[in-house]
Amino acid sequence: MKRFYCTCGNQVFFDSHRCLNCGAVLGFDPEARAMVPLESAEHLTCCSNGSEYGVCNWLRPTNSEQALCTACQFNRTIPNLSVAGNRERWAVLEEGKKRLFFTLMQLGLPLENGWADPQRGLLMDFMEDARSNPGLYPESFVSTGYLGGVITINTLEADDAARTEARMELRESYRTVLGHLRHESGHYYWSYLNPDDVLRQRFAMVFGDETVDYQTALKSYYDLGPAEHWREAYISAYASAHPSEDWAETWGHYLHIYDALETAAAHGLLPDDPSVMTIGQRIAAWQSLSVALNEMTRSVGRGDAYPFVIGERVAEKLQFVDEVIRLLRTPHPA
Ligand SMILES: [Zn+2]
Ligand SMILES: [Zn+2]
Ligand SMILES: [Zn+2]
Repeated sequence: MKRFYCTCGNQVFFDSHRCLNCGAVLGFDPEARAMVPLESAEHLTCCSNGSEYGVCNWLRPTNSEQALCTACQFNRTIPNLSVAGNRERWAVLEEGKKRLFFTLMQLGLPLENGWADPQRGLLMDFMEDARSNPGLYPESFVSTGYLGGVITINTLEADDAARTEARMELRESYRTVLGHLRHESGHYYWSYLNPDDVLRQRFAMVFGDETVDYQTALKSYYDLGPAEHWREAYISAYASAHPSEDWAETWGHYLHIYDALETAAAHGLLPDDPSVMTIGQRIAAWQSLSVALNEMTRSVGRGDAYPFVIGERVAEKLQFVDEVIRLLRTPHPA
């Protein structure tokens, strides 16, 4: 993430709604990818999810027919706001979604919503089920996942207590809303690319055969646990469940690394911005920075911020993701 400043010179943040120094009302201008004071941007106005519900700080063109900002236009289902706590959960989901979008934009990836482009666009469902709301949604079960252009996130993932419970139950070392969103975007972009046979063969050499039966593989992962020596070849235990999950996990980490290095560069911890680094340079920089990051979070009494190790095999997988991102940057027919 870049660093942002108010016109008064004070540092502000990507999710700021107001400058704490001069009091200016702020919003994010996706065109300029900058935080701007609303007062000095006549052509821009607040997204209605911001003005009505306080869950968005992005701006939209004043003369637009759309009341929603470009990011909120990706929503297909939002949490049921008559349920206590859901507005707050929605705010967390929006924050994650915007951080995902910012990195996708920085990487120059195509990003169109599924209303404007029903064939290849992306939509998001923030859904509830019986676990969070047995009265309203009896006997329902919503899995976080990706299918046919739609990323579904269970609203409970935005609830700290529920997410921690799920993390403990699944014996995961890391579980965040942003992590889910970045992972699911990997599934989306692989299907968006609609890869040819040559690329699919290369995928198979790096991640394994993606046509292996998905339900059987996932059932076996949840019943028996991850592959024994998964750390040697996978970024996470879950990545060993199926080649498609390995791809999505690796893609998610590619985005984590890019965002984190951008932040490091913006704060003077790195000489270069990741946009001018090769993937090899990024991995090397992140291997040492992530150790420092973990030591720092431990220094303030928290656990590892990034409980992952990037070995040689994982580095090869990240290299493949880098190549795919280059392909996605150049416009190509469906
Ligand atoms: Zn200010
Ligand atoms: Zn918005
Ligand atoms: Zn997945």
